[in-house]
Amino acid sequence: MSKSVIVVGTGNAALCAALAALESGARVTLLEKADKSLSGGNTKYTAGAMRFAYDGADDLLPLLRNPEDPRVKRADFGSYTTEKFANDLLGFNDGRPLSEEQEALVHQSGATLRWLASHGVKFEPIYSRQSFEKDGRHVFWGGLTLAAENEGVGLFDMELAAVERLGGTVRYSSAVTGLVTDAGRVCGVQIGQERLLADAVILACGGFEANGALRVKHMGENWEAAKVRGTPHNTGDGLLMALELGAADYGLYSGCHATPMDLHMADFGNLDLPPGERKNYRKISYFLGVMLNAHGARFVDEGANFRNYTYAQYGAAILEQPGQFA
Ligand SMILES: Cc1cc2nc3c(=O)[nH]c(=O)nc-3n(C[C@H](O)[C@H](O)[C@H](O)COP(=O)(O)OP(=O)(O)OC[C@H]3O[C@@H](n4cnc5c(N)ncnc54)[C@H](O)[C@@H]3O)c2cc1C
Repeated sequence: MSKSVIVVGTGNAALCAALAALESGARVTLLEKADKSLSGGNTKYTAGAMRFAYDGADDLLPLLRNPEDPRVKRADFGSYTTEKFANDLLGFNDGRPLSEEQEALVHQSGATLRWLASHGVKFEPIYSRQSFEKDGRHVFWGGLTLAAENEGVGLFDMELAAVERLGGTVRYSSAVTGLVTDAGRVCGVQIGQERLLADAVILACGGFEANGALRVKHMGENWEAAKVRGTPHNTGDGLLMALELGAADYGLYSGCHATPMDLHMADFGNLDLPPGERKNYRKISYFLGVMLNAHGARFVDEGANFRNYTYAQYGAAILEQPGQFA
């Protein structure tokens, strides 16, 4: 009898976990808090951009939906070696060495993309943001070379299709509210009053960024006012459930990727905007000028590096300013 696996969530992590479990012969049910339209979590809001190590064009061609695109022949993809990837990550580590997870990311990212491609998840070069034209060629830079076809929604659609092809099923509007244990071992989940048992439970239900109280608790008062660029559903449920059972705290709760965003955007992202426009809430042209706070003072070096290397930090810098805007 095959093992049964419950996966909580339907974002990239959940769908990849489900695929891996299905590949090894398990029966898999994914449980999603959101209704069908908001399933897929933050994954759907992304550009689907994939940072992974590769040695050259030969590593990329098998990942492309359309390797025959004439632009591919005129592209100079360069390379993004494991050494370069590791160095880029170290630049964000405040002096800490790479963690075990970062090492795995660096060394297994290429193989993971090939594994996804083997399940029909395909990618395309990010011509618009990550390349420039020189002597008739598209020259790529910065290690962020491919994105999922049709961005995050495409990533979700292709992964979900792969999961369903292998027999996985999804239940929407099914928020997991607790873990069921037997002799100290997790053996299922609670969905309100309903109890669902399984041989294994995988929590892949996001972080706590959409939970204002947890943001303040772990990151400080400044973060009350932060807006969330993605789903309203990532309220830390999985983390809280695991911690309640005695799981060890692990990871960097006080740090995050935080981008300068429109002061007047809604509290959460908006999937109703077309994919290319979903990013319009971002305010990331600061490197072309200066950013001033309410006192008319600059507070970061706007040109410290290429925007790709600064924008995820400058959201936090803005939250530290008087009135929390710039
Ligand atoms: C606007 C934006 C752009 C981004 N762009 C990129 C990019 O281009 N490239 C990149 O690599 N990363 C990007 N990211 C980061 C990326 O979205 C996340 O790293 C990734 O989605 C995390 O995947 P996940 O599966 O862990 O979480 P999610 O994709 O957020 O999935 C979590 C899921 O769990 C569900 N859930 C929550 N609680 C429960 C519960 N109690 N019961 C059941 N289900 C529950 C949620 O509804 C959701 O569907 C971006 C993020 C945002 C917000």
